[in-house]
Amino acid sequence: MQRRQFLTAATSAATALLSAGCEPAPRALQGGFAGIDLERGHQVRDLLARGALPAPGLVRRAQVVIAGGGVAGLAAARALRLAGVHDFVLLELEDQPGGNSRASAVNGVPCPMGAHYLPVPGNDAREVQDLLEELGLRQRVAGRWQYDERHLCHSPQERLFFQGQWQEGLLPQQDVDERTLAQYRRFARQVQALMQSVRFAMPMLKTFESKRPLAPVHQALDAMTFEAWLGTHGYDDPHLRWYLDYCCRDDYGAGTARVSAWAGIHYFASRHGFHAPGEPMDEAREAVLTWPEGNGWLTQRLAAPLRAGGQLRTGCSVLRIAQGRHGVEVDALHHASGTVERWQAPRCVVALPVFVAARVVQPAPAFLQAAAQRLHWAPWLVANIHLDAPLQDRPGAAPAWDNVLYQDANPGGLGYVDAGHQRLNTGALIAAPTVLSYYQALGDQPQGREQLASQPWMHWAQAALDALAVPHPDLAHRASRVDITRYGHAMAIPVPGQLAFLSQIGLQRFTGKRKQLSNGERNRWLPTPATARLAFAHADWSGYSVFEEAFTRGHAAGLAVLT
Ligand SMILES: Cc1cc2nc3c(=O)[nH]c(=O)nc-3n(C[C@H](O)[C@H](O)[C@H](O)COP(=O)(O)OP(=O)(O)OC[C@H]3O[C@@H](n4cnc5c(N)ncnc54)[C@H](O)[C@@H]3O)c2cc1C
Repeated sequence: MQRRQFLTAATSAATALLSAGCEPAPRALQGGFAGIDLERGHQVRDLLARGALPAPGLVRRAQVVIAGGGVAGLAAARALRLAGVHDFVLLELEDQPGGNSRASAVNGVPCPMGAHYLPVPGNDAREVQDLLEELGLRQRVAGRWQYDERHLCHSPQERLFFQGQWQEGLLPQQDVDERTLAQYRRFARQVQALMQSVRFAMPMLKTFESKRPLAPVHQALDAMTFEAWLGTHGYDDPHLRWYLDYCCRDDYGAGTARVSAWAGIHYFASRHGFHAPGEPMDEAREAVLTWPEGNGWLTQRLAAPLRAGGQLRTGCSVLRIAQGRHGVEVDALHHASGTVERWQAPRCVVALPVFVAARVVQPAPAFLQAAAQRLHWAPWLVANIHLDAPLQDRPGAAPAWDNVLYQDANPGGLGYVDAGHQRLNTGALIAAPTVLSYYQALGDQPQGREQLASQPWMHWAQAALDALAVPHPDLAHRASRVDITRYGHAMAIPVPGQLAFLSQIGLQRFTGKRKQLSNGERNRWLPTPATARLAFAHADWSGYSVFEEAFTRGHAAGLAVLT
């Protein structure tokens, strides 16, 4: 409560100054594009399209090469390190590892560049639980697992700008009528019934551990869009529909009209269900871990041992991964020097997005080519807005970590998280500069990727400021800098039919590879697509992108190349 009072006091002071006519002068906005070097990705694409790759100037050897340094590649590296294998190299295109889970800083204030939170993992995500134990975030106290409260999202966690004021939580509740509440309650019961009828595991690859074909319930949900399923079941309330569409855009980059009903239900059923207002919920299970720099906090710690061990090579684009009878050859372009290095290794972890892997793996196995043709990717952008003082605020709930607008003027707008929210010092909480990270998922925009590539940064910066000016009228006067990060292929969208397709790849992998496994491995399923020398790991193989999926697949691939 004391925190809430501090936060409310800070915004009230800003509001009072404005109403007293002490409005700060408008300022020239600084900023630009940050974080992702689109040119490097396009350079690789063009080199491959021309088919004339530069000859390697140097040949090196390692026991394992890991291509791609996102969460999956870093998890594979950790699995090798924990198994005592240190003779490996990780090749990453950008200058920093972490992929979509990298950290940034604007005017010295740390903030996320992409992923910003990790829900407290359930028992299906044992590999993630193990990482959190290693990092000291999770420990057993008197027989119960506890998380370090400094890293759990502080209260208030989220609020919604709805009907001209802020309300607590993201499900629209303020003045909604009995008909809306009845649909909330019915949807909650239906999700509960589905959770009891079939397993919705997170990470989803655990769904297939039984090695049986997809359950009929999963098949039926996967066959239609979530929108069609909602219509079939009579869910027509606009507030419920808005909330479900928001959840899908937030996790999958596209709304209910594009994602499958399996994805729409999985969002709730794989975590903690859906709760209508007033219904009991297990707060410990709903908690999320977050940091000022978002999930960059995790990837920086995963990368630290690799920096120390000399296994991390950033600014290196993988151009070619070729499997031979005696090993794998990986050619990588070192962007700073313009030279190509060839790595030779018995095994390689391909922790690249599927569309990149399909270009560089030679020859690309049939399942990889099929996946690259089948998957759809959502473009995203993140606007990191630096503020030097608290903002004026509309009435209602106190500023929260996650702040969402019911009617965001930008298509796919998802609101903002406040990088200053986790501060423990209440003085710094209300007065120090902060960064608001505003998210926009463009998976429902037919020309979203083209627009991302062609519009100048000011277009996106102004659009973000305009949208957020509705709840914060003084935003343009407080914002000193806006950095825009663009993701052309941010995440796979779980469209209808995709679950069946990906699970088929998983099943083929299991039945097809069994004979080639060593004795020790024969009874252990390798939950990652693989060939004799390559193990594939990326969130794309789950058909949607969250930390748990990327990490678990990376860990499995690290184990797979050890056998
Ligand atoms: C804006 C945004 C917000 C998100 N928010 C969350 C969140 O809050 N919580 C959450 O759990 N998830 C979130 N996600 C999902 C996020 O994608 C996953 O959590 C995870 O980071 C995916 O990791 P990955 O290793 O599978 O893929 P990637 O992050 O795509 O990693 C692939 C890596 O390969 C590198 N690469 C590509 N081509 C080459 C090449 N030719 N040579 C060498 N390297 C190459 C890339 O630079 C990248 O580092 C978010 C994603 C985005 C885009």
